Amino acid sequence: MKKENKYITTPIYYVNDHPHIGHAYTTIIADVLARYYRDKLGDENVYFLTGTDEHGLKIAESAKEKGINPQEFTDIISAEFEESWKNLNISNNNFIRTSSEKHKRIVGDVLLKLKNSKTPNANDVIYEADYEGLYCVGCEKFINESELVDGCCPDHNRKPEKLKEKNWFFNLKDFLPIIKEKIESNELEIYPKTRKNEVLGLIDKQDLPDFSISRSVKSVPWGIDLPWDDKQKCYVWVDALLNYITAIDYPGGENFKKFWPADIQLIALDILKFHAIFWPAILIALDLPLPKRLAIHGFFTIDGKKMSKTLGNVVNPNDLVDKYGADATKYLILSQFGFGSESDINVSEFSAKYKADLVNGLGNLVNRVTNMVQNYLNGKIDIKLKESDLVKDVSEKIENLNFREALLKIWESIKYLNSLIDEKKPWELAKIENEKENLKNILQDLVLGLYNIAISLKSFMPVKSNEIVKILMSEKIVKPETPIFPRLN
Ligand SMILES: [Zn+2]
Repeated sequence: MKKENKYITTPIYYVNDHPHIGHAYTTIIADVLARYYRDKLGDENVYFLTGTDEHGLKIAESAKEKGINPQEFTDIISAEFEESWKNLNISNNNFIRTSSEKHKRIVGDVLLKLKNSKTPNANDVIYEADYEGLYCVGCEKFINESELVDGCCPDHNRKPEKLKEKNWFFNLKDFLPIIKEKIESNELEIYPKTRKNEVLGLIDKQDLPDFSISRSVKSVPWGIDLPWDDKQKCYVWVDALLNYITAIDYPGGENFKKFWPADIQLIALDILKFHAIFWPAILIALDLPLPKRLAIHGFFTIDGKKMSKTLGNVVNPNDLVDKYGADATKYLILSQFGFGSESDINVSEFSAKYKADLVNGLGNLVNRVTNMVQNYLNGKIDIKLKESDLVKDVSEKIENLNFREALLKIWESIKYLNSLIDEKKPWELAKIENEKENLKNILQDLVLGLYNIAISLKSFMPVKSNEIVKILMSEKIVKPETPIFPRLN
């Protein structure tokens, strides 16, 4: 059965951290895809989900430090994420919070269902066992001795705690052969391919232990109740992964029936194992189809350095929006590096790039073209504005997640048109009587070129794109009173 709609998700962001440019990057990409597919398939056929992950020991600890209860704490931080996405003009259809009643209720139902299910080898999916291990509160997970650096978790630089408790476990082993098969056959596509190989390697190594789906209430009091054991809470990762189906009202809701399986689940590299192995296992146990594509982006540095609170180089997306506006911020971030690669965001170059590419590049082109059409053609053109190969080319690149390449292609076109103006010098042709027709043709070509640039930018810079299209489509083309991209103070 062919699914003529798209379900696009970002990870839900853990509220132990304030929104930063890393969260913004993933969210902007999801937004570009959502806008692109809405245009192609219709608004009602795209569902874009983001939200916040709100349970776990780390949250309880942070709330305690602030002297408030965990719910109050998550309310505050979750609102920061919603606010940031509003500022960035993100077009999500839903914003899920894992502390919401609906999510908690459905997670409870799912857990019970898993408890009553069998693995492909007819074993119980969920079983009880003792677990003893080292637990990093920073990661919210058990950590192997071999992963420690100087006795500390390398990601959090803190000593893990020794934990021994009775937990409920998920029988992952029995699902691995099917997961492997589905990944190999691309039924679950893992993109880019290097990550696919990484996941397959992990499965082949055969040291993926069953994972626990619960924590003792004593050690992790802030979480979703386990329906059959009041001494245990649901492990925050299981709770978090289920957001992708609770948000669309699994099992019986209209949105669930329409949109599952997800078409593109965007994630960062650090949560690959959870999404490529644990998540498919849970879905198979629930007898649900797997997401079609997991798209993984690598880590990036900020001006060559790892982003960290200690270095003070954490970039707040709201600051970027204040300075450059939402559309320009999206451009500046996405034009930095190709999706999937590990690279650098040159924030220190943003001002220069804003000036070069937006003020003097696209903005100036809009000014020049509209000004000349206004002066030499009285604002009138007599051609039909239709889409060119540029639009087709950019669409293809978006579908293949080549966002940076799409933008490079558009900016090639902007540079070309600006240089064409320099070369043809329409202002000189305007002085020559028998060049009138030639002048008109040149200007109309410029309008057509600019129109296609604006259309190509629709998913990336919805507001600016619309402004330009409106000017070019109006009865009489006039130069905008204020520049499309104002100069920075
Ligand atoms: Zn850690």
